[in-house]
Amino acid sequence: MGKLCCVDYGFECDFVAESKDTSGMIEEFAKHTLDEHGIEYSKEALMQFMLRKYNSSKYEDLYMQTA
Ligand SMILES: [Zn+2]
Repeated sequence: MGKLCCVDYGFECDFVAESKDTSGMIEEFAKHTLDEHGIEYSKEALMQFMLRKYNSSKYEDLYMQTA
């Protein structure tokens, strides 16, 4: 479990996507960045952000299961 903070990606924004479901969290964050900032991140790109931030293969495993 983790969270995606908009501010971590260079936005002046306090949005945080938090969920126990990794793919759901990524979807929520992707929707937010598109709706609010007009930037479309692919799920693959967001997964890479997650992996870099938490330095864990746990999320990759989760992602592979739900992809
Ligand atoms: Zn934002």
